[in-house]
Amino acid sequence: MPAVFPQQITLLGATGSIGANTLDVISRHPERYSVFALTAHRAAGRLAELCLQFSPRYAVMADRSAAKELKGLLQAGQCATTVLEGEQALCEVASASETDVVMAAIVGAAGLKPTLAAVTAGKKVLLANKEALVMSGQLFMDAVEASDCCLYPIDSEHNAIFQCLPGGFRRRPEADGIRRILLTASGGPFLNTLPEKLAAITPEEACAHPIWSMGRKISVDSATMMNKGLEVIEAHWLFGAPPDRIEVVIHPQGIVHSMVDYIDGSVLAQLGTPDMRIPIANALAWPERIASGASALDLFDIATLSFERPDFGRFPCLSLAYRALEAGGSMPAALNAANEEAVAAFLDGRLGFCRIADVIAATLERHGWPEAETLEAVLEIDAHARSVACEEICKRGMA
Ligand code: NAD
Ligand code: MG
Repeated sequence: MPAVFPQQITLLGATGSIGANTLDVISRHPERYSVFALTAHRAAGRLAELCLQFSPRYAVMADRSAAKELKGLLQAGQCATTVLEGEQALCEVASASETDVVMAAIVGAAGLKPTLAAVTAGKKVLLANKEALVMSGQLFMDAVEASDCCLYPIDSEHNAIFQCLPGGFRRRPEADGIRRILLTASGGPFLNTLPEKLAAITPEEACAHPIWSMGRKISVDSATMMNKGLEVIEAHWLFGAPPDRIEVVIHPQGIVHSMVDYIDGSVLAQLGTPDMRIPIANALAWPERIASGASALDLFDIATLSFERPDFGRFPCLSLAYRALEAGGSMPAALNAANEEAVAAFLDGRLGFCRIADVIAATLERHGWPEAETLEAVLEIDAHARSVACEEICKRGMA
């Protein structure tokens, strides 16, 4: 069915980095997109500014006190947006009949339920929240198949792969002559840091990514390369590729966003400046192309593109993610939960940088849970793995 414009957008995680980039693209095309709902965790001041600028019908905050603060700010600004609160409200705006497109840009497991609500309601879903898919892989993709949902990847690598796949791709890489998916990685801020210096890394150093400006959790994930590990799992579910057909390639310039290697020897790549507005605009308008605000790629300026193998010894989180994917079942959910807890502890100054991988490894070691076939089971596994990870964090601390 042809899209009717303007399309109504629900933006989950509006105050974050992906949220800001999405609103930037949307504001360039007022005839195509209008904002139905904006959501945030606790940043009421920032969400109030966005409500005044975009006049959504609804704004959703995580809890009552944040919602109260937002209501006060909107009344003072004479803004007619209705303020809601809590997870149920997130699910409601994500699945509302008025919503055409949902940008899933909440960070972490908190995004799972509202993203699944959008999928089940058959929305066009733009997936940035990779943790939701990592946690619930089979369940999530079954929900996509069962509904009329169109799922578009926002992660720059997966969006690149999406652009390099043949039209009508049905998640069967072999049937389409695909040998490998080549997932590029910048290597983060510590690609060449001496190993003995890693233990003393501070949150500020870990969050200073050389190429991308992102939220703090994904920045730490990029520094440990768990981000790439989560992306391997994400690629497995999105594209139906087994782990041994997904290869990570270090590419420090961050210009080639990923590649697809076909059996005839052709390798298709998508290139662009490192700017998240490119995948966002691509997914919003696909199969059309719209301006994103990103600058044109100047190959003469870049001059050199280089590629190297990842060092799994230096980045143990990458191996842990491959192992969790190979083990299958609920292992990726446990991996994700342990990682979220370990990264939060690192950002709070409660855990050393090199201990993040140890906490995840120990949590997986102790994880004896079966398949997670229902949402309730996934959430139970998530909660259990978090409590195990917290014990492991307490044992280690800053040591
Ligand atoms: P961010 O920390 O900048 O923003 C996160 C958003 O989620 C904020 O709006 C915050 O208010 C909201 N949020 C956080 N916890 C919440 C909770 N418990 N309940 C409800 N809302 C909550 O993060 P980001 O960098 O924008 O990343 C968002 C997602 O996109 C992540 O899953 C990340 O992995 C993915 N992603 C980000 C980038 C990037 O360039 N930033 C690139 C690829 C993928
Ligand atoms: Mg990415």
